[in-house]
Amino acid sequence: MALINIDGSSDIFYRYKMHQPELMCTGNHTIILNAEQLGKELGRPIDVICKFMSKRMGVRINKKLQDKKQVLIVSGQHTKASILEVLREYIDKKVLCPQCKNPETDVDLKICKACGVIKKVKPQHFEVVFE
Ligand SMILES: [Zn+2]
Repeated sequence: MALINIDGSSDIFYRYKMHQPELMCTGNHTIILNAEQLGKELGRPIDVICKFMSKRMGVRINKKLQDKKQVLIVSGQHTKASILEVLREYIDKKVLCPQCKNPETDVDLKICKACGVIKKVKPQHFEVVFE
């Protein structure tokens, strides 16, 4: 199976690659067979990815050990394109450095291997005073 760029680009020289989700549909569930591998490739614990996906998709996702590998059991039938879309969103928001787009960041998105400390751009706060 062809690897894809973590940042979603089609640049063949891009160094950070990941596998596409391998899915198996069983009745009312979609199993992500290579969830463990995807987690490793993104440098994120499977639980964190699972939580994000579950919230974003609005479905129950359970972790299960299958053939000594952790898989994710997603409630309902889902296509590879829709799973990939949620993963893409996760990567954009939680993996890529907001400053340089390097994916070698820590789980809290505070440290980037390329930039060092990631400076958070604080949104402007306007205080509304009610009198
Ligand atoms: Zn960076």
